[in-house]
Amino acid sequence: MPEGDTVWLQARRLDRALAGRAITYTDLRHPRLATAQLSGRAVAEVAARGKHLLMRMQGGLTLHSHLGMDGAWHTVRQGGRRPAEPAWQLRAAIANDEWIAFGYRLRRLDLIATREEDRVVGHLGPDLLAAGFDAADARRRLTARPDREIGEALLDQATVAGLGNLYVAELLFLTGTNPWTPVRAVRDPDRLLALARELLAAGIDTAGDHPVQVTTGNPRPGSGCYVYRRAGEPCRRCGTLVRSAWQGAPPRARQRYWCPACQPLPQT
Ligand SMILES: [Zn+2]
Repeated sequence: MPEGDTVWLQARRLDRALAGRAITYTDLRHPRLATAQLSGRAVAEVAARGKHLLMRMQGGLTLHSHLGMDGAWHTVRQGGRRPAEPAWQLRAAIANDEWIAFGYRLRRLDLIATREEDRVVGHLGPDLLAAGFDAADARRRLTARPDREIGEALLDQATVAGLGNLYVAELLFLTGTNPWTPVRAVRDPDRLLALARELLAAGIDTAGDHPVQVTTGNPRPGSGCYVYRRAGEPCRRCGTLVRSAWQGAPPRARQRYWCPACQPLPQT
């Protein structure tokens, strides 16, 4: 599942290519949208909300997409080479005089009225990458269900929007928090949320198209994370083997990674 920084950078790339220009061509490969005709409309802006992309157009229309597990938008110049993606996974193509945007493997694709965007993103908690992040609301949502496990609560986009598996794993390591800790036993929820914002902000602090997603400070391949996808390898701090296990019930179960020594379960 993409992290919020990945979606944010894709929105920025789409915004730079499409905003302020009229659409000249659309191909939306969804039965409900097959006849939708957007040509002639100008794109006002492209924004990210958590893992949702909102392409707002003139006339009060929004093309909403969700990247699901591995969806992606690519932008290429007219006449340029197509993205290296399987053609049958293409779900949307939108072009103007200069650019073409290709959306692959989108889990959701809807055309909605801009004033009704809340129907698709209204359930989301405060966006960790938003300038006007509401820390008090985020804390309230996080602590509203005190018996919930912290790993699950942080990944729930209704708590805060933007965290995926990688940042949840790293965030819990950096704060010495075991993923199965009940929310009520988490020592400093405000610090946890502040650090979550810092990690995502560091992810988008790049001139390129891909987020940095390095939490160790070491950008070498395979060295960027403390515990994420490192099950069976020694903890970078204490040498104990990193563990992994599933958390949550299917289909929402997610793999957790943690160091049992650096992230002990609190005594109850
Ligand atoms: Zn450790």
